[in-house]
Amino acid sequence: MVERRSRPILVAGGAGFIGSHLCEALLADGADVICLDSLRTGRRANLKSFEREPRFDFVEADVVAPLPAALKAASFRPAAIFNLACPASPPHYMADPEHTLLTSIIGTRALLGLAERAAARFVLASTSEVYGDPAVHPQVETYWGNVNPIGPRACYDEGKRAAETLTFDYERAGRADVRVARIFNTYGPRMQVDDGRVVSNVICQALQGADITVYGEGSQTRSFCYVSDLVDGLLRLSRHEGEAPGPINLGNPIELTVSDLVRRVLDLTGSSSAIVHRPLPVDDPTRRRPDISKAERVLGWAPTVPLATGLERTVAYFDAVLAPPRRNGRDSRTAPGLSA
Ligand code: UDP
Repeated sequence: MVERRSRPILVAGGAGFIGSHLCEALLADGADVICLDSLRTGRRANLKSFEREPRFDFVEADVVAPLPAALKAASFRPAAIFNLACPASPPHYMADPEHTLLTSIIGTRALLGLAERAAARFVLASTSEVYGDPAVHPQVETYWGNVNPIGPRACYDEGKRAAETLTFDYERAGRADVRVARIFNTYGPRMQVDDGRVVSNVICQALQGADITVYGEGSQTRSFCYVSDLVDGLLRLSRHEGEAPGPINLGNPIELTVSDLVRRVLDLTGSSSAIVHRPLPVDDPTRRRPDISKAERVLGWAPTVPLATGLERTVAYFDAVLAPPRRNGRDSRTAPGLSA
């Protein structure tokens, strides 16, 4: 790794959807950034627009394995460590549930250990899934959640809950300075075509004229946050000084049903795709909306990108990704403007 002027920032999971936008924002802000990613669900293509930046380094490694020597060296003293390392789309995290669970638990332990050794601030990307199928609506940080510990989503939900437990144990013991973001549904450019989550599925299906898959009746709700808003919240949280804030919800409180989302995408794309219903996945939460009053009060943060704008940008991104390669041989899959 190159010699550094200031203490760098480590982003585990930095080649993923949110992680790559976070790396880009940190670089734009003048930081030295090291991205650690196993590339199981992250992609080098997500780093394309900034990977040649001299203040950026990429390290391919899995947080479940011992950390690479370069990160264990005493001379490696990051100022902050963001832990976004974990598959986040239900079909992806369920594909290898044992690995998903261990990624959250072992990965968080390894990175907390590094934070303790280097006196780095530790920022955990937790999730609204800690609330499970919530009995309290909208979800406030004081709610303990309603998670099925033995269901197919448990590898993710319980993994993140255990990661929070460990993180706050380190804080209680004075071993690390920690921040925990509970991230609600987020969308935008750099989601994968085969991501499997509803926004990418519906947009790609609409653009390709394929049937739109609605799981269940489509009456379940979610609240979708555009990725640049989410990254702004993460940065504010990571820079927050003063009293330890505890977990903070980051998400857009505008709630809509899956059917509402489908209608909006069909209007936006002018697609005539048919809607087909598929069985509702086991333990699929019936509703979800963040209470963001704590983020507003503590971080002065609230989302600013309207759903219509965010969806337009995301449709434009997928439109470019799905376009056939140009005749001059340039692969349009690597070409679309990725600015958030
Ligand atoms: N969903 C859907 N069609 C799809 C993908 C997802 O109806 O092609 C539903 C899913 O059952 C859930 C909601 O959309 O109720 C959001 O799912 P997603 O996988 O995006 O995220 P989740 O919030 O469940 O983690």
